[in-house]
Amino acid sequence: MEKERLDTELSANDFKQLVEVYKSIVATETGFSFPTDPMDQLWKAVAAVFKSWNNHRAITYRELNGIAHDWGTAVNVQSMVYGNMGDDCATGVCFTRDPSTGEKRFFGEYLVNAQGEDVVAGIRTPAPINDDSKNDSNRDEKTLEEYMPEIFQELTETYQKLERHYKDMQDIEFTVEANKLYLLQTRNGKRTAQAALKIAVDLESEGIVTKEEALLQIDPETLNQLLHPRLDPNASKTIIAKGLPASPGAGTGQICFTSERAHSLSENGEKVILVRQETSPEDIAGMAASQGILTARGGMTSHAAVVARGMGKPCVAGCSSLLINSQEQTLTIGDKVYKEGDWITVEGATGEVMNGEVPTLDAEITSDFATFMGWADEIRKLRVRTNADNPEDTKTAVKFGAEGIGLCRTEHMFFEPERILAVREMIFAETVPAREKALAKLLPFQREDFVGIYEALEGKPCNIRLLDPPLHEFLPHSAEEKAELAKYIDVELQTIEDISERLHEFNPMLGHRGCRLGITYPEIYKMQVQAIIEAAIEAKKKGITVKPEIMIPLVAIDKELSQLKEILQAHIETVFTEKGETVDYKLGTMIELPRAAITAANIAQHADFFSFGTNDLTQTTFGLSRDDAGKFLNEYVAESILPQDPFVSLDQEGVGYLVEFATKQGREANKDIHVGICGEHGGEPKSIDFCHRIGLDYVSCSPYRVPIARLSAAQAQIRNK
Ligand code: PEP
Ligand code: MG
Repeated sequence: MEKERLDTELSANDFKQLVEVYKSIVATETGFSFPTDPMDQLWKAVAAVFKSWNNHRAITYRELNGIAHDWGTAVNVQSMVYGNMGDDCATGVCFTRDPSTGEKRFFGEYLVNAQGEDVVAGIRTPAPINDDSKNDSNRDEKTLEEYMPEIFQELTETYQKLERHYKDMQDIEFTVEANKLYLLQTRNGKRTAQAALKIAVDLESEGIVTKEEALLQIDPETLNQLLHPRLDPNASKTIIAKGLPASPGAGTGQICFTSERAHSLSENGEKVILVRQETSPEDIAGMAASQGILTARGGMTSHAAVVARGMGKPCVAGCSSLLINSQEQTLTIGDKVYKEGDWITVEGATGEVMNGEVPTLDAEITSDFATFMGWADEIRKLRVRTNADNPEDTKTAVKFGAEGIGLCRTEHMFFEPERILAVREMIFAETVPAREKALAKLLPFQREDFVGIYEALEGKPCNIRLLDPPLHEFLPHSAEEKAELAKYIDVELQTIEDISERLHEFNPMLGHRGCRLGITYPEIYKMQVQAIIEAAIEAKKKGITVKPEIMIPLVAIDKELSQLKEILQAHIETVFTEKGETVDYKLGTMIELPRAAITAANIAQHADFFSFGTNDLTQTTFGLSRDDAGKFLNEYVAESILPQDPFVSLDQEGVGYLVEFATKQGREANKDIHVGICGEHGGEPKSIDFCHRIGLDYVSCSPYRVPIARLSAAQAQIRNK
């Protein structure tokens, strides 16, 4: 075809040539000539639709939307109507409400004498269907309302009927053939999170849906978009790597390789992204100072993921295409080398890492949010607590509706610069008095922390876990740190090296951690319960009633719990006597080992509560390291060996079985036992549905997931009525 004719209509001759070209392509690609029998064409078209279920695009779409691959699809065969048979014909697309804002306005576009593809393909510019659909560029065009008023009237009545019937905003395709309106398709329209909320609240107030139906309209995960900054959807972006979507939100900043540097740059008002092989508790300050965190290793329950979620910071974890050279301070992705100060952007809901600074938009919370969440609270039975270990996170969680703390990880409090030396002194102590001397330095810090948290909770329950992680996490690493410690505790450098060597463990996650620390060094737990109780007495004097829940981690054997309980109760009694004051408290345990779940009936006799630590319970049930699983779990999911990452969504068949079993056994042995979950699953909708079904009392999750958990709990109540 001649060049100058390219942007005009094809002639009849062009079409003939084109048809021949298409026929020869069909013959070469399929080995058959193009079918001419209509029934043959129809069956081939039907088969093509069925086959499309397995094309690459469809597979990707299902993966992104969590749709199972074995559902299959359906085919509708219907006769055609033609919008392109003259000027009394038209075709168009309309939305019954605004899918970007949720505003109640009917709007859309149409074309006279056209067929559907002409509207969506951009070959001709469509006109607005009514004044509500006009924008600056099409102010003078005739609307459908003006051009075909009766058709528009019928379309209006029809869309209202459809909204009432489907009880949701509709995205409708229509065709007019010889002045008669036909609907080609109607479906619930896709929408932004902001629009979803407004539409749900408006539909309820218009009497179209009940509160329950409105609550079911929103996928809890989409609330994430409302609570975190997000990428500007109009900004262009270049994706340079992809990792695990560990904590949602978008962050942009200069690359920084150490926590100290991140902290100092942010003090100068710079925006930074902390890039680490993996993070450890020592990185807390740097993480807090960053706009986002990017790690090369670690899974969805790695330190970086858990802490970032708690802080509400974007995090992309386990991004295995990153090559980080800590010596040279470089990050290599493919053949591009990034240095400190280069800008990158991370999007923690998708796991994408982008080149340069991609603009972001702030989170917006509207009054519709409060209305909607209020309905969720009226309906749900499952309580929602938060995992928080400082007053700031606690306040955020309470603002988001948390009904208490379900897990306060005390070890996070030990890493502040003025405390870490005393912590190391405690670890390196070789006698009980030496350890007690170091612990005495930590006591006032812990007490102060707890008073702050109790105040932020305003009387809500507070579950505090005693020290859990392996001690090696606190060891000094660099030569300077070792020298500083040697000086602080007044020993030779060699002594530090020797003790470090002795403290080394081959498998620290299964080593000297959890209640095993309390059994071997009871003075550590005694100091912690003293701080918890003294803080509660102090809070009581300020008019805040707290009932602390003291939680012993990683119990496998009932005797571990009963022995520690006896020691700690006796110590608490001495605190009461000394202070001349008492407070109510509970003492219970985490269930995070299969043995504990299996022997729950015995353990329950010594516990006021159980809290399922499903991160460790998943790790130990599967025999799968939570910090290393990121490397291969994706493949397991891609090959359908597992339906989902079990560190993200509870494995109901295996780990869930243990949770249900232990709950039943625990309740039979101790009818007053209070039962919750505090692993990362406590904020995941499907796992929350499971927790509701098996009758747990509460779930606990990171502050920014509290609204998601509240909505999920309400949906679980509605669905399982
Ligand atoms: C757990 O194991 O589920 C838990 C909450 O504890 P942590 O993640 O601190 O090990
Ligand atoms: Mg644990």
